[in-house]
Amino acid sequence: MAQATTIEREEYGLWIDGTDRPADDGRTLAVEDPATGEVLTHVAAASEADVSTAVSVAESAGEEWAARIPKERTRTLLAIAETIRENAERLARIETLENGKPLSEARGQVRRCARHFEYYAGEADKIEGDSIPLGDGYVDYTVHEPLGVTAHIVPWNVPIYLFARSVAPALAVGNAVVVKPAEETPIGALTVARLAEEAGLPPGVLNVVPGDGVEAGAALTSHPNIDCVTFTGSEATGREVATAAVSNINEVHLELGGKSPLLVFPDADLDRAVEETVRGIFTNAGQVCSASSRVLVHEDAHDEYVDLLVEAVKELSVGPGVDDADIGPLVSGEHRDRVAEYIDLGRKTVGDPVVGGDVGDGVGYFVEPTVFDGVDNDSRIAQEEIFGPVLTVGTFADETEAVELGNDSRYGLVAGVMTRDVGRAHRVARDLDAGQIYVNEWFAGGNETPFGGYKESGIGRENGRQAIHNYTQLKNVCVRLD
Ligand code: NAD
Repeated sequence: MAQATTIEREEYGLWIDGTDRPADDGRTLAVEDPATGEVLTHVAAASEADVSTAVSVAESAGEEWAARIPKERTRTLLAIAETIRENAERLARIETLENGKPLSEARGQVRRCARHFEYYAGEADKIEGDSIPLGDGYVDYTVHEPLGVTAHIVPWNVPIYLFARSVAPALAVGNAVVVKPAEETPIGALTVARLAEEAGLPPGVLNVVPGDGVEAGAALTSHPNIDCVTFTGSEATGREVATAAVSNINEVHLELGGKSPLLVFPDADLDRAVEETVRGIFTNAGQVCSASSRVLVHEDAHDEYVDLLVEAVKELSVGPGVDDADIGPLVSGEHRDRVAEYIDLGRKTVGDPVVGGDVGDGVGYFVEPTVFDGVDNDSRIAQEEIFGPVLTVGTFADETEAVELGNDSRYGLVAGVMTRDVGRAHRVARDLDAGQIYVNEWFAGGNETPFGGYKESGIGRENGRQAIHNYTQLKNVCVRLD
């Protein structure tokens, strides 16, 4: 039985200086429920002037926040984590309504969001410098200082967690932030920002400016008074954002796309390999940068693996996220159509999928989980990021070829290995060109483990301890003693 699809308010403003306000030119964006295509709510669409207001508010609020004793920032971030947990069900429902993902996945992402604030709360008072020996005549030490105002551009696929992913470490070290959420999914970010303030974050330290990417997003990333940009999204936009940041001599961190290989060796536990494949590609209907979208299986294991895979995929339910189906709708009609074009391309170049392939034409933006077998690694569907529930399966003859094909991609976000041979696991992990290697479990690791891309999957790392230094600048102090 489908639950009612209502979001909390009929209108949302920009969140600047702890107040909800309309855009200065009064423009709004409609936010849709991808399970029904109906408008859920309207949100103010920031203009260039609104973005400038948010940046100057952040500049002044940031001074007091940066001056706080670090343990006070720790306590505030812990209180934010707690408030998010207290509001977990509410936030999960918002994520499901605006993004479409199943409620149980949304609940998991809200837990990750709370954990992220908790993790960086623990870092806020441990940002230690070094003492550098220069002999008796000097004392030399380093200090990690906040950058000032950091800009964060967030995509629609995991809106609440990806908001927290870069905002929590930036706040922990004393920056003030301005966030531009995706057009499709601004409500989660706006709601978490309000909750952060209820938890004790001073007004103006965290500002959210929903709006159009090419207008509000570009205004933010090219603003002369921001000090760093963290962008999560597509490679094409990432290039534009990086160009704007570099021309302002700002730091830029890019978390971009992937076409991540999962290598299945014949000694692997094939039931587990199938389970991990299904989780890796069909979580969030495949709209995950680190999806296991390109399976390469050893020739000897291929037939058994594909039989098991097809059986497992047939079991998956497709339906509204509020009903907690296994696979929810894609985020928008436009994105559903893009994925449908790739399925057509697959039919033309590879043949019919071994399972799935239907694209809904009724209510909501549903696409069946789809697997193409016998896919040449050079083909477009094996090389381009589809960002939907579409898996390609190819084969390899030996370990050398597995690594060669795995690395034959311009992306290098994630790669996975399924094997029981510990030596092979480490050899292959060493030889794969990706920022993160999963052995015997897809999506292994968490808030604590570095995440980011080799090659064209990005610049820099989020998560873990080193992400703190995305948001600090290093000062060296050298004192002559006599
Ligand atoms: P997108 O690049 O279209 O949009 C991302 C964000 O950029 C949105 O907020 C958008 O409004 C904004 N934007 C658009 N044009 C802009 C501009 N000129 N200047 C500044 N901002 C602008 O990406 P998308 O389609 O929303 O997201 C999907 C992509 O994100 C996929 O490629 C996926 O792999 C990638 N992604 C990567 C990670 C990661 O951690 N590596 C995580 C999630 C998603």
